[in-house]
Amino acid sequence: MQALSAGAVLEVDLAAVAANWRMLVARHAGAVGAVVKADGYGLGAKPVARRLYREGCRHFFTAHLAEAVALRGEAPGAMVAALNGLWPGDAGAYAEHDVPPVLGSLGEVEAWSAEGLRRGRRLEALLHVDTGMNRLGLSPGEVERLAEEPERLDGVAVRYVMTHLASAEEPGAPINALQARRFAAACARLPTAPRSLANSSGIFLGADFASELARPGAALYGINPTPGRANPMRPCVRLRAPVLQVREVGAGEGVGYNGAWVAPRDSRIATVSVGYADGFLRSLSNAGEARFDGAPVPLVGRVSMDLSTYDVTELPGVAPGAWLELIGPDVPVDAVAERAGTNGYEVLTSLGRRYARVYLDA
Ligand SMILES: *Cc1c(COP(=O)(O)O)cnc(C)c1O
Repeated sequence: MQALSAGAVLEVDLAAVAANWRMLVARHAGAVGAVVKADGYGLGAKPVARRLYREGCRHFFTAHLAEAVALRGEAPGAMVAALNGLWPGDAGAYAEHDVPPVLGSLGEVEAWSAEGLRRGRRLEALLHVDTGMNRLGLSPGEVERLAEEPERLDGVAVRYVMTHLASAEEPGAPINALQARRFAAACARLPTAPRSLANSSGIFLGADFASELARPGAALYGINPTPGRANPMRPCVRLRAPVLQVREVGAGEGVGYNGAWVAPRDSRIATVSVGYADGFLRSLSNAGEARFDGAPVPLVGRVSMDLSTYDVTELPGVAPGAWLELIGPDVPVDAVAERAGTNGYEVLTSLGRRYARVYLDA
């Protein structure tokens, strides 16, 4: 199970991912899908989708068509949709691969409907309505055009009408209720179809945000969907890295590039085999914190490309070959993110390709 060289090991607990999905199913009035874009938020879209399919999940979302095509075979009979919409010229490929696009403009609707008419059948798609994100989706004017000219959808079977919440993790943000109202108004103007509204945090906003299909990503992977409150999700990632060397560094000596940390006393410094080329963010320089046997270990100095350094002066048990926990039950993804000045999504999707990956309960 260990890496061939002195590399770090990334453990993904698929039983925890499955437990998180079941928990969301229990909380949400409608069905619950799984967003597995960006290689399953960095954890591995295939193993995640396979495990959730076994659990009973039948709706998967990627961002790109290519991601959906790669997963198609893992989820027979399930919907595997691509959120980023229909790129000009791709309609044939979507249809061939049985991937419904998420249509977000009249141009996309036109291209998909034409593809359906050419094939002599209505092709499944989702309609994406913009209710305040101003990123993708049909504008209110475009929704009106579709309402007035329903023949624009003659080649389309609308499987879901969906929208995406911009601030779901802030329960007090007024835009949440505004988006729910705009969504209801848009749905009333469009062909009757099941609706898809909540992302992870949306599931925790209450009954007004329930729909026929929720689209959680982050919460499945253990990111807290309710920031500021206790995390209801189970952690599912553990990143452990081996100590290569432990060095004595005298008071006043600098450690790492540019001496960005200067030892305030005679210190012991552990050098670990993980750096920013592993997606271990450089912004953790002089800010990260690992654990050794549960004890906190401060990251000192700059994170280098392949290495990082930790002050283990107080931890005589740390020797070459010891393992530090960089992410895990005691070092939550959200805590790493806060120290790095980003969010858990970026921490997970940055996870590097050099890690030896171990899947529990695959
Ligand atoms: C990424 C994404 C989701 C999942 O959001 P989480 O916050 O990770 O739950 C849902 N819907 C759309 C349109 C997305 O782009």
